[in-house]
Amino acid sequence: MTPWFDPSLVFIGGAWCAPASGDTLPVIDPSTGDEIARIARGTSADIDAAVIAAEAALAGEWGALPAFERGRILARLGQLILDHIEQLSAMEAADVGKPLTQARNDVIAMARYCEFYAGAADKLMGETIPFQSGFTVYTLREPHGVTGHIVPWNYPMQIIGRSVGAALAAGNACVLKPAEEACLTALAFADLARQAGLPPGALNVVPGLGAEAGAALTAHPGIRHISFTGSVATGRKVQAAAAENVVPVTLELGGKSPQLVFADADLDAALPYLVNAGIQNAGQTCSASSRILVEQSIYAEVCERMAEAYRGLSVGPATADLRVGPLISARQKGIVERYLAMADPAHVIARGQLAADLPAGGHYIAPALIAGPGPDHVLAQEEIFGPVQIILPFADEADAIRIANGTAYGLVASVWSRDGGRQMRLAKKLRAGQVFLNNYGAAGGVELPFGGTGLSGHGREKGFEALYAMTGLKTVAALHG
Ligand code: NAD
Repeated sequence: MTPWFDPSLVFIGGAWCAPASGDTLPVIDPSTGDEIARIARGTSADIDAAVIAAEAALAGEWGALPAFERGRILARLGQLILDHIEQLSAMEAADVGKPLTQARNDVIAMARYCEFYAGAADKLMGETIPFQSGFTVYTLREPHGVTGHIVPWNYPMQIIGRSVGAALAAGNACVLKPAEEACLTALAFADLARQAGLPPGALNVVPGLGAEAGAALTAHPGIRHISFTGSVATGRKVQAAAAENVVPVTLELGGKSPQLVFADADLDAALPYLVNAGIQNAGQTCSASSRILVEQSIYAEVCERMAEAYRGLSVGPATADLRVGPLISARQKGIVERYLAMADPAHVIARGQLAADLPAGGHYIAPALIAGPGPDHVLAQEEIFGPVQIILPFADEADAIRIANGTAYGLVASVWSRDGGRQMRLAKKLRAGQVFLNNYGAAGGVELPFGGTGLSGHGREKGFEALYAMTGLKTVAALHG
């Protein structure tokens, strides 16, 4: 996997340049632990240059483009992404450790965001408002200006697509700081955007460390909106920085999302979702379903069927394209192992299988299914961010709601039941930004507004909601008699 661009550069003002620091950071393949490339160590000087380039784009060619032309560029970008699906999926697999099929799905999702926002760019409208006689009042949806985008390592392509795609469609100019662990597809995206005809400065990409490039971006007075996806701890810092400059911020901070399985559920239909939503991307998914809540009368059966599925899960390098790949880093593996050490060994009812002859430097963990700790146990409360699911029994509907809503998070929930009344009741009562009925979409659905409540964050991405978030509303009141 060799990128067609030089990954050790930053992308500013439509050109590849050396970072001001002259420094680089390693790109580690999580499947092997090997260094496969170097990326730029961007710092505040590069962020300053990127913001200046973005402001110039808004004052120049990019700012003058009509909405439908922005849409056309995004449409071309979506096509170019699909045209490069082999290179991009190999790149993401090597950088993130994603099994190739999952990496491929991310490429397709990124293209879908470009397509969706390409079509939406010229359909973002204001409204007219009936007011006093003699007035005409209407609203304008205007871009914020320069927007900052801080992206984590778990789904770089999807998160860049949803965040930058919406921002560009709405007419903003973007400064993107990808995660230091996984930058390559962010840089590829910038190069494909250039090829698609995006004017210089409309998108700038500055890789670097969170505490350096990331903090510089969030603190920059030229940034008029910040989109952040990542940990709660960093989200708090980002929100504090945004407060200092009094700018809006979208925070997407993960969760402890439950699937509620009632005794009348179609278990054959549910089972693949119950398991996959926990182990997709090795559980490193903000909307992973890490809690499975099961009605007492079928609890033993669901435990056994999930355990059987877990015993059949195999873990290996991204290129082997098994169900589960490595974790992103030795650090993340350490975090997950520390959580697993808190489990009573008697509660670990099944583990997946590590493939034979795994590369010694890879960060592999056999998925673990844990049944038995109470709903207040740390494993049932905190986001583990690894291939670990907790199964808990509930007595009745009220108990299910109490347990489901009993964490500090609220991102996604699902209900498995054939009872339509129960589906409707629970859809209202579950504390989550998305509720799925008889399915589970781990962050799926380009068209579906997505975001959380509580420690899961605030603000919505995806669908039209993201376009609203990426614009400010201006009211114009004309008195003409
Ligand atoms: P993180 O939140 O520190 O990193 C996410 C992004 O924020 C990266 O681009 C990083 O460079 C940037 N960043 C870090 N410090 C910053 C700062 N002070 N100012 C601005 N940007 C900054 O997450 P992490 O350290 O990579 O992972 C730690 C934990 O976060 C994981 O174990 C997991 O629980 C959680 N996580 C959640 C998501 C999610 O999708 N919700 C994604 C990644 C990690």
